[in-house]
Amino acid sequence: MSHNAESTAFRSALEVIRAVEPRVADAIGAELADQRESLKLIASENYASPATLLAMGNWFSDKYAEGTVGRRFYAGCQNVDTVEALAAEHARELFGAAHAYAQPHSGIDANLVAFWAILADRVESPALKRAQVRQVNDLTEADWFALRRELGDQRMLGMSLDAGGHLTHGFRPNISGKMFDQRSYGTDPATGLIDYDRVAEAAREFKPLILVAGYSAYPRKVNFRIMREIADSVGATFMVDMAHFAGLVAGKVFTGDFDPVPHAHIVTTTTHKSLRGPRGGMVLCGPELADQVDRGCPMVLGGPLPHVMAAKAVALAEARRPDFADYARRIVDNAQALADGLLRRGATLVTGGTDNHLVLIDVSGYGLTGRQAEQALLDSGIVTNRNAVPQDPNGAWYTSGIRIGTPALTTRGLGAAEMDATAELIHTVLTQTTAGSGPDGAPSKAKYVLDPAVAEQVGKQAADLLTPFPLYPEVDLT
Ligand SMILES: *Cc1c(COP(=O)(O)O)cnc(C)c1O
Repeated sequence: MSHNAESTAFRSALEVIRAVEPRVADAIGAELADQRESLKLIASENYASPATLLAMGNWFSDKYAEGTVGRRFYAGCQNVDTVEALAAEHARELFGAAHAYAQPHSGIDANLVAFWAILADRVESPALKRAQVRQVNDLTEADWFALRRELGDQRMLGMSLDAGGHLTHGFRPNISGKMFDQRSYGTDPATGLIDYDRVAEAAREFKPLILVAGYSAYPRKVNFRIMREIADSVGATFMVDMAHFAGLVAGKVFTGDFDPVPHAHIVTTTTHKSLRGPRGGMVLCGPELADQVDRGCPMVLGGPLPHVMAAKAVALAEARRPDFADYARRIVDNAQALADGLLRRGATLVTGGTDNHLVLIDVSGYGLTGRQAEQALLDSGIVTNRNAVPQDPNGAWYTSGIRIGTPALTTRGLGAAEMDATAELIHTVLTQTTAGSGPDGAPSKAKYVLDPAVAEQVGKQAADLLTPFPLYPEVDLT
């Protein structure tokens, strides 16, 4: 039994929870055990620090704090003001942004805040102006009608889903696809890279109100200076959604043309992916959009989550330390080592490699769908997720790709040698798995055959790989 502060804190918390509902305490303990045992290659996940996790479990959760720092619709928000102001200050300093809004509950919410801020700022509609917070009750039915028509005409140009774009960039399953008339830009079929001339051409033809850059499955840097020039050439607002790669911006791996903050009018992010903070979102912008962004709650957000903002302040303070830059550099070094290891063994990678935190394997060369590959890897103790590749013949459900990312394993301390070993394990599973067939003997996109002995052997090797790198070594629950 360890008596350090972290072990004592988590053990005590579980003891208190166990007295009320032991099954919840058990599930929390089981989650830690599962995370410790799995080779987590999910590109959007990470492990937040004990300080970040602990900052979320307290009475800040009890507080309503609609409004902004110093201007609340509720009384008694002085301590919430302290943590929200700290989160914003750390974010401004870390990213070099004029304004930061720390309230969004998630990445989707951050995007909604940004979309509404841009609409409110840009669309010359008297009805929209009246729809802003204070006059919302004065709107007539005719106003609402006009407003809905005007908003529905607004255009957004973003990266296509199968090139790595995100649902919230104007696609049908998300409200953004219903708010905006959307068109997307893809990647060059030969290289897999963004073709900026094609983006410029699409912008000239489509004349979007908003040009969006950012992705969840594109393994390369994006030149935000060029994207801004394209936006300017058609009078569009340039928005960057850095949800996936915020940690690489914070750690100064993406600088100059590849740092979105100096180039975009508005930047949104999650705080829980490569940034390694609590589950949440954030918006950064210049002074021009600051007032509209600050209306996020109650325009599109429910009451802020002060306990999560406290954790954001802690995580952002961690990201300002010099060792975070070292962490960010190791994320990319590890992704490149993983990509090299896979390429050397004959895998096909979208764009032929990576210069960020993620690698996209085209598994069709192994005769598998993404779904078959994902499940076979999971059987072998390797956690990844399936993902469409550009022009994917298997669509968004079965897909032909496997997305892997290094932020989580890098937090544990794994390095280049372990990445090469990981590449070997992935390659072994994918070469040993064959596509299965349905009950009628027809080829299946979901069924697969993998010798359980192989899965077990790989699972054991994956566990051995993790042994020297314990997860949350400072937390002993026994
Ligand atoms: C993950 C992600 C989001 C959504 O974040 P949530 O916190 O899950 O709402 C938005 N945009 C991009 C590009 C993402 O990768």
